[in-house]
Amino acid sequence: MSQAPSLRSADAEGAERVPTAARAKGAALRDARRAWRLLHLDANESAALAGRALQRAQAQQDRHAQGWARLALGFHQLYFAGPEQARAELALASACFQAVRDRAGELLAGAGIGRALWRVGQVSEALAHLLLLRDEGLRLLKHEQRGVLLNAIAGCYSTLGRSEEAFAYMFEALRGAGPTRGHGFDAALHCNLSHELMELGDHEEALDQVRRGLERSQGLRNARLQAVLLLNRIVSLTELGRARQAMPDVERVRALPADASGRGTTEQSFEVLALAALRAGETDLGEQLLHQARSSPAPTLTDERVQLALAEALLAHAHGQTSVGLKHLIEVAPLLGSEPEAGDSCAARASLRLRCQHAQLESELHEAQGHSAPALRALRRWQTLSEERALLASRARYQAAALQTELLRLRQRLEENDAKRRATEKARAEMVLTNLALSRKIDEVQALQVALREQATQDALTGLFNRRHLNAQLPTMLALAARESQPLALVLIDLDHFKQVNDQHGHATGDTLLAAFGQLMRSQLRASDCAFRYGGEEFCLLLPNTAATAAASKVERLLGLWRQQVFELDSGRLGQQGFCAGVVDSCLAGGKPAELLRAADDLLLAAKRAGRMRVYCGT
Ligand code: GH3
Ligand code: MG
Ligand code: MG
Repeated sequence: MSQAPSLRSADAEGAERVPTAARAKGAALRDARRAWRLLHLDANESAALAGRALQRAQAQQDRHAQGWARLALGFHQLYFAGPEQARAELALASACFQAVRDRAGELLAGAGIGRALWRVGQVSEALAHLLLLRDEGLRLLKHEQRGVLLNAIAGCYSTLGRSEEAFAYMFEALRGAGPTRGHGFDAALHCNLSHELMELGDHEEALDQVRRGLERSQGLRNARLQAVLLLNRIVSLTELGRARQAMPDVERVRALPADASGRGTTEQSFEVLALAALRAGETDLGEQLLHQARSSPAPTLTDERVQLALAEALLAHAHGQTSVGLKHLIEVAPLLGSEPEAGDSCAARASLRLRCQHAQLESELHEAQGHSAPALRALRRWQTLSEERALLASRARYQAAALQTELLRLRQRLEENDAKRRATEKARAEMVLTNLALSRKIDEVQALQVALREQATQDALTGLFNRRHLNAQLPTMLALAARESQPLALVLIDLDHFKQVNDQHGHATGDTLLAAFGQLMRSQLRASDCAFRYGGEEFCLLLPNTAATAAASKVERLLGLWRQQVFELDSGRLGQQGFCAGVVDSCLAGGKPAELLRAADDLLLAAKRAGRMRVYCGT
């Protein structure tokens, strides 16, 4: 239940000495501001200090101090009590700030109000409200204060499924609220980043962000933040199929009291713990946790409701009542529905992550009942959702482009600072420090870019999928093919004498040819076919519902088109390019990815040995 922070009487302090009115007034404001800075460092102390400062400020009719005290209390309530209560407190804070014309304070209160709106599910309203504050906030707010506003905006985008924007705002927030200036807020940002990555299915990255967040939160007295970080780790490990490893975290979260000194009363997430326990095979514990989830206040957020249903379904299944489990899943099916209409409350639809999980579990349960048709339908839905999720992840990672702009800006500032440093010897020492920090940021952004690029699913030169994506897709597509009793054709292609092209015409020409080959493949394949760049001048095709012989004819046609293509170069015309291909299908070469690839590779080698420009098909 929500619990007001304890308000200690100001008398005890007042009795110590009797300061002048002006000094006392200054002290209330100082304490109130300190309470704000302590918000993430020591949640309890922050609330207690804010409570005392508020009493004193009220007695002295110091509206400025009241504003800061109410701001700290309002944010504390956002985390530990409830959004409605927080919103009322923040509205009072805003009025105080307005009266004393502290615009920065007003913007922060506005950010909190936006967050409260978001928490009650009015996401679009919250975003509109926050975006109005953004530009002024970027000018007036610094460090963690700026982070608070940007992070609230990120939260809205995240809930609306707009990960690109969410990431951009989170990174920007993190940039302002680094470990030294963040007053612990950076730990909260690592926590949010991990949540976003988890939603996109990037669980390894999410675990890394959790690790950083926990590292940063070690010195803090903020059990709630630790609990949320641990919950994110539990979700990621569960989704990675490593629920067993999550059990120590489940115990750690359970050990934290559900009050303002612990993990807070607002996000108890017993259903998340229950899901982990059930997936780890701990049915009794799962049942106990689920019981706690049921006796908590009914969840208001869609995702919580879906999560609860998933846990109910798993438990019923564990007790051998699979059809009851399916009923739980069907009950929440309306929450997974189609894209909400404009103007609808967007939060009414479950996140992509939970829609994926729902489809997966539904397929599992139908399968367990031996109902293969609905199992297949659910599996298909899961595959479509997974693809959507991969695409979203890929797009979000292309946020690297935005980071590039940021990088240029930082570089420019670095150069400006260098010039200034030469001119002003006095400011030298300071500049060295700034430059060091900037260089470090450049390194950070660069490292991030490299990481993001590596994680992308597309190959930049050819526009085809990359090998990483092939590794992810091949097992799923094979499983689908097996289920539908249809062949899946796999083709390996290697361009002929490609080294000669590079040697005689230069590497840039080689690149042009590779890009053109990518373009040719994309123009010739069906929408359901997938083309991947397998290595340097090697490619792989996956053709669903296609036998090897049909695939081979198609590849022969591709070879014909490739041979006809003529490239106009400065050094003359280049044409008559060829390739060799090995074609197999899943019926002929067995159903395992490695077997299939090996069989295609053997045929490809044989084609090379027999001369060039030929397509060998396994029959
Ligand atoms: P073969 O007919 O036996 O396949 O001969 P090949 O020359 O194509 O095969 P080899 O494996 O000897 O050489 C492959 C060449 O492809 C060498 C490498 O420099 C080139 N290559 C790999 N990736 C790229 C790339 O991204 N751009 C360019 N321009 N060349 C590349
Ligand atoms: Mg090769
Ligand atoms: Mg080659």
